[in-house]
Parts: sequence; C-alpha cells; structure tokens
Amino acid sequence: MRHDHHGRTHRLELDDQSLRQWTCAVLASDPEDGIVLDRSAFYPGGGGQPPDRGVLLWNGVQTRIVGVRPRDDLWLVPDPEDPLPPIGTPVRGAVDDERRTLLMRTHSGLHVLCGVVFRDYGVPVTGGNMEPGEARLDFDLPAVPPDFKETLTAALNAEVAADRAVEVRVLPREQAYRLGPIIRTATDLLPPDLEVVRLVDVVGLDLQADGGTHVASTRQIGRIEVVKVENKGKGFRRVRIRLPGNGQDQ
Ligand SMILES: [Zn+2]
Repeated sequence: MRHDHHGRTHRLELDDQSLRQWTCAVLASDPEDGIVLDRSAFYPGGGGQPPDRGVLLWNGVQTRIVGVRPRDDLWLVPDPEDPLPPIGTPVRGAVDDERRTLLMRTHSGLHVLCGVVFRDYGVPVTGGNMEPGEARLDFDLPAVPPDFKETLTAALNAEVAADRAVEVRVLPREQAYRLGPIIRTATDLLPPDLEVVRLVDVVGLDLQADGGTHVASTRQIGRIEVVKVENKGKGFRRVRIRLPGNGQDQ
C-alpha cells in the first residue's frame, strides 16, 4: 500500500495541504456507492478530523460532495439532489476552502494543546475530537493545578505567537520507530503493509504519526481559547478549546 494512495485514488492533500482545486477523472460512479476519482484532495476523515466537503464541476453542472466513505476505494458521497458524473468524465474538484482551512487551524491547535500539556504537565492524551473551530482532547491528568485554565490559555497562545513551523515528513517505518515510544505506539496502529509513516512535527513542541491536514506554522492557528476543563472521572480531564472570531460563533 502506497502512503499517498487509498485504493485507486491518489490522495493529493497528503503532499499539498494548501491544494483546493484540481483536475481529475471519474473511475466509478454509482447512485448507492458514490464516486471514485483518480486524484482527490478531499480529506477522507480520520484522527478526529471530519471529512471535507466540496464540489465536482463537469459539463456545466455541479455535484456537491457532502462526505467521504473510505472503503476499498475512497467513495465520495454526492448530494442526492445533484447529477452524477459518468465514468470517464473529466471533472474539476474543489474542496470547501473556508471549512477545510478552519479545520486545519483547529487540528493544528490540538497539536499545540497536546504538546503544551505533555511538556508542562507530563501527561498523555487519551482521546479527542474536532469540529470546525472547536475541539477537545482528553488527558490522564490526576489533579488540576490552580489557575489551570488561565495558565494553559497563556501557554497555548505563547506557542501560537512563537510561530513554530509545522512540518510534514514521510519516513520509513523502522526509522520512525526510533523517534520514541509515542511514535512507536501510533505506528503500531497503522496497517502492517504500510512501509512509510507520515509524521507531523510542530517543531520543538509536538511530533506525531498523523494523516490529517495542518497549517504551515502555529501563528496561522490564531488565538486559542480554553472554553472549559471538565472532570470526567478519576484522572480523566476533558479540555475544550475554540478558535474565536471564525464566523461560526453561535
Ligand atoms: Zn494532526
């Protein structure tokens, strides 16, 4: 299995997270299963990041893409109201830029949160999830220090202001193993026939095996607000963050 393919689809977003439009061809088209493209930048979902939405433009009409079903192939889910492009049709694909860009900022914000909590409190992440502009991570944190929320908010925004580079590297699996136990655990969860590992490095702060999309440096995240810290049981703390001023405020 090649790391930049899923079934027959070349996943363009893995190598170019800023790509929003591309040309491609339809390999499969079915009212039940959906659409398979030869090349796609639609993030299929995974690692807590939801799938992209967007549109396929062809022959003067559009097919809105409302989700992705990763199976043997990457099946794009069309809006049932829209026409389906026949197999062989050349199409122009486009990812919903506003939503994806906000998800990239949110996802990158979670890396900063993960890195800061591990550095300052020495505890690992146990779970997480994100929507555009808001997200949560769970930590195995036995006690919450006084002023945790305020201290954490300041530390997160100091890392945003530091404008750390967020780099993507693809390494042979064995080489990635040597980077430490966290990477080793993550790579053990990957399919055994995958020989390379994609690493996302918030340089100097957080390094993870990761297939998601991220901004290029931490300043692009913008301000991070810690909304609340919930106590979900013994040693189980849920930290909720949001990126204010993103137009999705309620
Ligand atoms: Zn990530």
